[in-house]
Amino acid sequence: MIRFSRGAAPTCLALVTKTAWPPAPTCYAVVRRELFETTKQHCAFCDGAVGAESTCTVEHFRPKRDFPNLIFDWTNLFPACNACQAAKGKKFDERLLKPDSFDYRFARYFICNFLTGEIESNPIAPASDQEQAKLTIQIYDLNKTERKRRRLQSRKYWDNRENGQDLDDFNYRYFLVDRDTY
Ligand SMILES: [Zn+2]
Repeated sequence: MIRFSRGAAPTCLALVTKTAWPPAPTCYAVVRRELFETTKQHCAFCDGAVGAESTCTVEHFRPKRDFPNLIFDWTNLFPACNACQAAKGKKFDERLLKPDSFDYRFARYFICNFLTGEIESNPIAPASDQEQAKLTIQIYDLNKTERKRRRLQSRKYWDNRENGQDLDDFNYRYFLVDRDTY
């Protein structure tokens, strides 16, 4: 989970007259495209590059059922992969970490375990920050077996990358470079 900065809301969102998700297909396409441009085509939660092994979806951070007034609110919409969206389902907790918060930084809340492929709560963070990190890992199932394996695999690919391959081409960018970057 890497911090990203959100651009201005697409104008079509302000014009939606529906009460249920999704907006018209053209507006949905604009919203999804602009969200994924902010994360360079990565899931905002697991940081998997979307496309090859997952589909990209628009995730409501605060669930539609419990927060109907936020269904078309730009700040409640996140670029996510289908795996994170399925793991989270309708679950929500106010302590969940939000990757576009002004004070969110990966290194503040998490550390990488390069032996197991897991991300863990930062052991020197305040207890409340650690609690938020653990909750976020649990709700998005960020340490499920496949993800641990793929993070370690990504590091190998990164170490053997060819000239011209960009960090944004890889999955789990926080696992590849100095964690203070994020
Ligand atoms: Zn994801």
